[in-house]
Amino acid sequence: MTEKSNWKVPIDKTVDLDDFYKCMKGTEKKHNPKCNSLKGEIGKFAICTMYESRPTPCRAFCASFENGKSNQRCDQARLKHGLKPLTREDWYKYHQHSIPITFS
Ligand code: SF4
Repeated sequence: MTEKSNWKVPIDKTVDLDDFYKCMKGTEKKHNPKCNSLKGEIGKFAICTMYESRPTPCRAFCASFENGKSNQRCDQARLKHGLKPLTREDWYKYHQHSIPITFS
C-alpha cells in the first residue's frame, strides 16, 4: 500500500474559498489563520491530526533546511509565533545524522 492510497482529504475538514478552491478550515481567516487540524501548543508540542491525509500544499511545504534549503515562509511563520528560524544544525540534532552538503 503506497502513501498515496490513503491520501484523501476529508471534506468536512475543508471550507470553500470560492467556486473552484477549498482550503483547510481555519486557514481561510485573514488574521491569525490556524488550521483546525493542528492540535497542541505551537512552540511546545503541536501535531497535524490528519497527517496521512493532509492536502497537496501541506505535502509540498518544506520546513527550513528539511531539504537542505532555507524557506523564508517557514521562517516567517515561526517568527510569528515567537520561534527562531530553523537551521541546518536543528535538523542534524533532530535526525542525528549527517548535515546535507550542497556542492556547487
Ligand atoms: S499539515 Fe495538517 S495541521 Fe498543518 S495545515 Fe496541513 S492539514 Fe492543517
